[in-house]
Amino acid sequence: MTMTTVATTLFAIVELPYAYDALEPYISAETLHFHHDMHYAGYVAKLEELVEGTRYATMSLEDIVRESDGAIFNNASQAWNHVFYFEQLAHNPRHTPEGHLRRAIDQTFGSVDELRKRINTAATSLFGSGWVWLATDGDGRLYIVSKPNAGTPLTDGLTPLMCVDVWEHAYYIDYRNHRKQAVEELWRVLDWRVVEQRYEDAVY
Ligand code: MN
Repeated sequence: MTMTTVATTLFAIVELPYAYDALEPYISAETLHFHHDMHYAGYVAKLEELVEGTRYATMSLEDIVRESDGAIFNNASQAWNHVFYFEQLAHNPRHTPEGHLRRAIDQTFGSVDELRKRINTAATSLFGSGWVWLATDGDGRLYIVSKPNAGTPLTDGLTPLMCVDVWEHAYYIDYRNHRKQAVEELWRVLDWRVVEQRYEDAVY
């Protein structure tokens, strides 16, 4: 009888849903290799180390984010945030939102351009590392939420719809210290289809 030992991990590394060079020239393959394979995977590895033997070991990532604090929260939230961030980008994105989300954006911000401007401003003015989020409550209202470090609107009872990673590791290889430009170029690879689907799932 042959025994097969399967190496298991508590939290799977979610592969990129596109090739590493799919987002060029806006996000380089080099950036994605570092961002996904080193930074994101590093948070997952660290989280596994921290939760081993604790009550968090059998929880979903999202539940850990909602219920933990300190180092476990930081690594769980960074793991969750990165999967969410990578998922919303595409080689052939749709550049404008439609449907319910489009109506909510127009009602709340006046236009999609105005929403982009406000998120760009929030992202460029966030001091240090963190995330800027578009999020919704259960009633479909929209919020722009700035969070330092690993922060997420999940802990405010909101559902995230899209995010901008403003940690330097997200853009420094391609844009050096030009965060403003990095944030503006992110819209070129943001797939509004994904954001719309998240809004539909959260509200309708
Ligand atoms: Mn990142």
